[in-house]
Amino acid sequence: MENTGVIWIMMAGIFLSTASGRASQTIDPAVAKEISTTWAIDNHAHPVLAPPNDRADKDFDALPADAMEQQSDPVALRPDFHLLGTAWKALYGFDTPPPLDADGLKRLNDARTHAKGTHGEHYPEWVLDQARIGTMLANRVTMGPGIEPPQFQWVPYADALIFPLDNTGMAAASPDRKQLFALEDMVRARYLNQAGLNTIPATLDEYLQRVVTATLERQKAGGAIAEKFEVAYLRSFAFSDPPRAEAERIYLRWVGHSNPDGQEYELLQSFLFRYVAMECGRLRMPVHLHAMGGLGRYFSIAGANPLLLEPVFNDPRLKNTNFVLLHGGWPYVREIGALLQKPNVFVDLSLQSLTMTPHAQSQWLREWLEWEPEKVLFGTDAYPFSDELGWPESAWIASRNERDALGMALTGMLDDGEISRKRASELIRLVLRGNAEAVYKLRVTKDRAEPAGPLRSKLSPR
Ligand SMILES: [Zn+2]
Repeated sequence: MENTGVIWIMMAGIFLSTASGRASQTIDPAVAKEISTTWAIDNHAHPVLAPPNDRADKDFDALPADAMEQQSDPVALRPDFHLLGTAWKALYGFDTPPPLDADGLKRLNDARTHAKGTHGEHYPEWVLDQARIGTMLANRVTMGPGIEPPQFQWVPYADALIFPLDNTGMAAASPDRKQLFALEDMVRARYLNQAGLNTIPATLDEYLQRVVTATLERQKAGGAIAEKFEVAYLRSFAFSDPPRAEAERIYLRWVGHSNPDGQEYELLQSFLFRYVAMECGRLRMPVHLHAMGGLGRYFSIAGANPLLLEPVFNDPRLKNTNFVLLHGGWPYVREIGALLQKPNVFVDLSLQSLTMTPHAQSQWLREWLEWEPEKVLFGTDAYPFSDELGWPESAWIASRNERDALGMALTGMLDDGEISRKRASELIRLVLRGNAEAVYKLRVTKDRAEPAGPLRSKLSPR
């Protein structure tokens, strides 16, 4: 019997050592409480204007998802996703579980209309309160009523600046890109118009000064705190590094002409991407990059491998530019983790916080927190995805999921004796807001010590 006991203890030891390193599936009650009451900075989202301007608002995205052919929807983006019901109840007191029929949807919209009527122009801010978000970075073409500082900080789009030539050839790559480049050309036309131009300047030098630098400086003066690239939807991350003379030659050869040579256009785009990134460094605006599998039938997941960006991160001319890889990079979560060792590379948890379960996220989140904890930023990617999943619902669900994932990762680290409770508190603060405060020199606008409300995980106390 004694021997059996020893063997059992040895086996248990083996089991425990195999299990250690994983995130816990439960959350320590003190950790859960602190996470649920900490006001966050949301690094990336697409809030919609306050009523009555919400109906006509199209500027919440430069490349709206409904322009593309439908991908197979992940579970969290389907109309029967179980957390939809939890969010509707928390936000509007609406108590019918998904999926909704036409009548249910009408009643849901009535409940939303009631909430909008109650909060009026403060409706977007009220949405932030429900998700315990103090400040939201609003990735929008323009800001507007209800989506204003200090609660909302502007992150405009820079993609249009790196595609100055005829984009017919780029658009031919897929039916989705055909739609997306048409939208991108419209954004570029707006930027030209704001620069007082109606055509692209004749020389590269003029283009850089009068369009690229002028647009970035105007956006910065207009309150922008970062610039966003959705370039993974438009081409691969494999940017080359041509000399300026080569970019000038290509620009002069093709500007104003149709169908530029594909390889030459790639070189010009790469030159412009690095130029924009350099200017962002000078202007102290971090560069945001969509880095995850994307929406649409034809998104190139292979082209969005963040390791393709390593030469950009290693470019000494871009030492002063901070890059934030949005959405956690899935499926390249390991690659992202390795890239965090570069002083100018950060990752945010937006979108994965909405579409992945807390348990799945907590696995790689724990690795990142053990590796480079000052590089990980909270985010939701709140967005008007569908009739059922509006930007308030996506903000609420993502915020709760992500807080659960953080709780699981930290509980695992506590259980394995890797961190003290004091360090767990520091990590909560860093991920939810401290790292963003450092990257953008921001302060959250709300810092109330609220009692744990609806965001408190159902998983705690264990
Ligand atoms: Zn987004």
